[in-house]
Amino acid sequence: MADAATATARPPAPPRARPRRRRPLPALAVALAGLALVMALAFPRVERAFLIAMGDRDRATLELATQVMRGALSRTEALPVLLAERPILARLLREPGNSGLLPFVNEQLRQTALSLDLSDVYLMDAEGLTIAASSYRTDRSFVGQRFAYRPYFTEALAGGLGRFHALGTTSGERGYFFAAPVIDGTEITGVVAVKITLDAFEATWADSGSTIIVQDMSNVIFLSDRADWHFRTLGPVPEAGLETIAATRQYPIGRLTPLPARRAALGSSGYEIVTIDGAAGRESYLMQTGLVAAAGWRVSILSPTAPATVQALTVMAVAGLAALFVLLIAAVIWQRRIRLEERLAAQAGEQARLEARVRERTRDLDAANAQLRQEVEVRARAEAQLRKTQAELVQAGKLAALGQMSAALSHEFNQPLAAVKAYAENAATFLDRGREGEARENIRLISTMADRMASISKHLRNFARRPQDKTGPVPMRAVIEDALELMRPRLDKAGARLDYAAPAAEVWVTGGRVRLQQVIVNLIGNALDAMEGREPPEIALALAVEGRRCLLEVRDRGPGLSEDALAQAFDPFFTTKAPGQGLGLGLSISYNIVRDFNGRLTAANRPEGGAVFTVELDLADPPAEMAAE
Ligand code: ADP
Repeated sequence: MADAATATARPPAPPRARPRRRRPLPALAVALAGLALVMALAFPRVERAFLIAMGDRDRATLELATQVMRGALSRTEALPVLLAERPILARLLREPGNSGLLPFVNEQLRQTALSLDLSDVYLMDAEGLTIAASSYRTDRSFVGQRFAYRPYFTEALAGGLGRFHALGTTSGERGYFFAAPVIDGTEITGVVAVKITLDAFEATWADSGSTIIVQDMSNVIFLSDRADWHFRTLGPVPEAGLETIAATRQYPIGRLTPLPARRAALGSSGYEIVTIDGAAGRESYLMQTGLVAAAGWRVSILSPTAPATVQALTVMAVAGLAALFVLLIAAVIWQRRIRLEERLAAQAGEQARLEARVRERTRDLDAANAQLRQEVEVRARAEAQLRKTQAELVQAGKLAALGQMSAALSHEFNQPLAAVKAYAENAATFLDRGREGEARENIRLISTMADRMASISKHLRNFARRPQDKTGPVPMRAVIEDALELMRPRLDKAGARLDYAAPAAEVWVTGGRVRLQQVIVNLIGNALDAMEGREPPEIALALAVEGRRCLLEVRDRGPGLSEDALAQAFDPFFTTKAPGQGLGLGLSISYNIVRDFNGRLTAANRPEGGAVFTVELDLADPPAEMAAE
């Protein structure tokens, strides 16, 4: 449970493309071991196949050797029988002391041996004593030798055909002996023996790469192209055989030692493997055997196994190398595949990391977006709040303006009303007292007050509704002249200096004549107000044309506009004048008038002191009748 809990608590492992495969090196080692095992198991079979092939090849050599021996023996076999029929031999046996006969027989035997290519031909009497021999002239002459112990003698003496192979006791040569009885009438008087040497066989065998051995019935190697194996035994010598050998002096008993050989059948192939641990080291042979039945011989050919082993080893080496090559190529391909898979896995990992990062960034972006949306909402709320506050302020401002206006109006009206009341009371009192003149004066004052109130009310009316003045081309120069004319009494009273150079040509602007005049009067009046107490007041007017606009500047040398006044001068009811002096409507009305004509009214302070008000208006084409003049 605890494990499960921690497992779920752990963050998910980064995605791995695939579980890692085995590395090729250990697999290669296993494959190599397998290959070595297969080769070790296969080697004996391959070697055996080569051995059998070699054996099959050498079978022909064996058969040839066997045939040659059989042929030689069978050719010689009949010779003693034929020789025994020579009458001279029976005669010599009858007269052994005949000294005239003996040399003749000896020579005849010698001739026979030479012509028939026999090693020896000799004649023995019934006692086994050699009385004539083909070798009579040589050192190793058989004459006088006794061969009664030889089986061929006893067999022939018994009337049969004697045959025997042995190491010649006189000649020291290995030979094959055939013997036949010499029959004189009905009596066997002697034996004729023929010997052939077998050394010539060995000489021919020596040429082949294999070794040929001939064993007799007692397992004694009688013939072989390996001279050191002569009279050695391959297998146990039977007891009876040993006795016979000793009795017949067939072989020198002392040399009959067994070869240190081990023999083993090569499966069911019929071949034998013979291993001989000789003085020169271990020798190994493939052995197959044939028979020369007449002589009781077993002829074996021993083929050295080394070439077959070398061949098998070569084949195995080539096969092993080929397999190794294939394995290495497979390993290389495998290695490459693993590398490729690892690269793919790494790429997948990288992509997953990238995707994770993108997701993370997206999350961050989403969060930032949400925060932004929230901020926008907050701003919107703040803005709404601001608007609301502004509206409230505007409302409050309106109320304040209304209050201001009410105060101003009540002040403006109260004063004349109070004065009217006082003057009326005074007039009544003067009438009561019969002072008519003073009463009349007071009534005139009342009338003046009424005029003043009418004037205030007219201002208000102007502010409230538009005059019936039409808009059209207006001659600016003339309008300025009119306004100056209107202001003349005030200017003169204040002793003001007017600086105005009227342009030579009329300047036509778009507007209403009366209202433009009202604006100019207002601006000049304000300038005079600003310079109250300054001697002498200086007012400058400048009319100029710039492009399609006409500019009229009204400059004074008063204190200029404060910051507040710059910001609010055109607001209705803004005034810095004492109550009763101004309503704060002049500039506001003027501003609206100029704006109605698609113009602009601006205020600024002059660098050299004083204020400058600029009226900017569209130039207009002069009316048709004027243009005609
Ligand atoms: P009023 O003249 O009744 O005060 P206006 O709208 O004509 O109303 O003027 C508003 C205010 O602008 C004035 O009270 C004054 O403070 C300021 N003002 C106008 N003209 C000038 C000027 N030439 N120099 C200085 N201040 C001026």
